[in-house]
Amino acid sequence: MVNDMQQRLREELAGIDSAGLRRRLRQLDSAQGVRINLEGRELLNFSSNDYLGLANDPILKRAASKAIEEFGAGSGSARLICGSQSPHHQLETALAEFKGTESAICFSSGYAAALGVLPAVVGEGDVVVIGKLVHASLIDGVRLSGAKLRVFKHNDLEDLERILQWAARREGHTLVITESVFSMDGDLAPILNLIELKEKYGAWLMVDEAHATGLFGKGRAGLIEEFGVGDRVDIQMGTLGKALGSAGGYICGSQQLVDLLINRARSFVFSTAPVPAQAAAAKAAVDWVQTGEAEIARTRLWALVDQLKNGLIQRGWQLPVVRSAILPLIVGDESDATVLSERLLATGVFLPVIRYPTVARSEARLRITVSAAHSAEDVSQLLEVLGDA
Ligand code: PMP
Repeated sequence: MVNDMQQRLREELAGIDSAGLRRRLRQLDSAQGVRINLEGRELLNFSSNDYLGLANDPILKRAASKAIEEFGAGSGSARLICGSQSPHHQLETALAEFKGTESAICFSSGYAAALGVLPAVVGEGDVVVIGKLVHASLIDGVRLSGAKLRVFKHNDLEDLERILQWAARREGHTLVITESVFSMDGDLAPILNLIELKEKYGAWLMVDEAHATGLFGKGRAGLIEEFGVGDRVDIQMGTLGKALGSAGGYICGSQQLVDLLINRARSFVFSTAPVPAQAAAAKAAVDWVQTGEAEIARTRLWALVDQLKNGLIQRGWQLPVVRSAILPLIVGDESDATVLSERLLATGVFLPVIRYPTVARSEARLRITVSAAHSAEDVSQLLEVLGDA
């Protein structure tokens, strides 16, 4: 008998191949960092979200080891059964204080946080208005919720207002969702204007601070802190897997929001708790990121970003306006971007291509991410090879 499923899979993969969109995993034989060992080669890495160089930091590693010794390798069950170990509670207390919210709740990933929170707070009859470039996890969370999904043009306040006017005439609640720093473009959302609009139309606002946490604001809590609007944002979301060097996601907000999520967020209720080492490492990162040492690291990071931006502009690259550690070199065509990435790889620089479905079709790019762990020489090396390429 013909195995229909294998036939189907072959056709799907052939379609991905012919569009130049086939992806494959590359094995990393080293810790995350500026220098990585990828498939047997030492490479200079400009592709990770480990913006502060914490993923392999001794402070986080010690915290993780200590948690393993004390609490074991596994968490045993979902939090609501018997897996709610002290490291999770300590992390949540630290996160709420860091973000200046009443409460916080952790998930096994940022993706799980989005999937958990949205169906818990909105549903059929409600409207969710998302920015065009928000992360896939938010789109999936809205779809799962059954709320009506509307999309406003990237950072376009007029377009958002038009949709809010329409939504205000309907029954039900309206939730606006934006990222604060956009993951694939490195630009920022106009948070203050978004807040004014959502207040004008009686909507709620959720902000994903995945790429801002640890980097923005006086206390490095994110862009919401930088604008001083914590009490005007209804739901704050983020991940512990980028500048905070560990893994996991979180939602910060009111005690009632967190209490509801403990009861209703399905990715929380029905999922084994993150391992204690993950929570302990993240807690160590939250503590460290509020120290003077972290301020020094952040200053170093912005200096490297400036060096890179100036160098790219001098070499004729057109850069969008960014104020973050993310610099997209937009190539356009998927195959051209892949060729450029392979050329860089041949010179020892790892800068993988980002293409559909992570970004729109024909907007393929090399997404450079700078880390405080890079040196000025690393940036010079990148500029040199980009110049040649
Ligand atoms: N939001 C944004 C903007 C992201 O970039 C990511 C990670 N790619 C997530 C959410 C999901 O977070 P996590 O990787 O922890 O699942």
